Amino acid sequence: MPVFGPVPSRRLGVSLGINNIPPKHCTYSCVYCQLGRTSSMTAERRYFYPPAGLAVEAGRKLDKLAAAGVRPDYLTFVPDGEPTLDVNLGMELELLKKHGIKTAVISNASLVFMPEVRRDLALADLVSLKVDSVDEEAWRAVDRPHGALKLRDILEGVASFAREYKGRLVTETMLVKGVNDGEPALRRTAAFLAGVKPAMAYILTPTRPPAEPGAEKCGEEAMTAAWNIFSSAGLAAEIVAGYEGNAFGGGGRPEEELLAICSVHPMREDAAEEFLGRAGAAPGTLGELVRRGLLARSVFGGAVFYLRKFGK
Ligand code: SF4
Repeated sequence: MPVFGPVPSRRLGVSLGINNIPPKHCTYSCVYCQLGRTSSMTAERRYFYPPAGLAVEAGRKLDKLAAAGVRPDYLTFVPDGEPTLDVNLGMELELLKKHGIKTAVISNASLVFMPEVRRDLALADLVSLKVDSVDEEAWRAVDRPHGALKLRDILEGVASFAREYKGRLVTETMLVKGVNDGEPALRRTAAFLAGVKPAMAYILTPTRPPAEPGAEKCGEEAMTAAWNIFSSAGLAAEIVAGYEGNAFGGGGRPEEELLAICSVHPMREDAAEEFLGRAGAAPGTLGELVRRGLLARSVFGGAVFYLRKFGK
């Protein structure tokens, strides 16, 4: 069973990936999936690999990394499918604990209505749950779920897990242009997530080649609107749109610091000007960053915002 990485990530620091699912066993076939269409669509948990083998492989990899002076921040279940389909997920999380490194599971949340899945996930230090939409039609259009799954059960499962879970819970909402990015729909998603109270609600848009060429990414304007809607609902929200690797906090220069902030959330014009002024940047820097194609200017709710321009 593959253990891969480590992979640097803004959200998890240095993360060693655990791939506990063969490609591509999933409960969803998301239009934006970068692994292509789901070949083994299933909603039944089952055995895939021997858990002890995973623990041994992770141990070997950690020894090699330790020899090179590297200690990952997280052991992260981020497989080529849905990690909670693995009936041994809980046992694997238990076995990995002996390494003294935090564990994380990145799940699409589709099976979290099952008490046994919630019990397994409770063993991880960080759990990320996907909530792309709380509207039936958009959920079906974006995530293309297995026929046995019901959105209402999943949302109830997410809410139950959030009430019980003691670790760090974050959510991911992937926005596809023209499908789940409308403002009324986003308000409903935000209202649901506000009840879940994640430590962070990440808002994403496809930045890598998706399973379906028609799954288009949202522009900076739509992402600025989404972030404002999430924030107004009381959520701590961040945008993930292709700058994960280099968004750790700039290189000390005011322009770089500002770009690092604006790569995770839009900044209001007055706050951006104040930030640059305090940091001693030359007048006109904001306009210059827009002219150079590094910042996008959007208007939301009558105010002007700046967001890091997405990569091509
Ligand atoms: S849940 Fe993840 S792995 Fe499954 S289809 Fe969607 S993006 Fe791909």
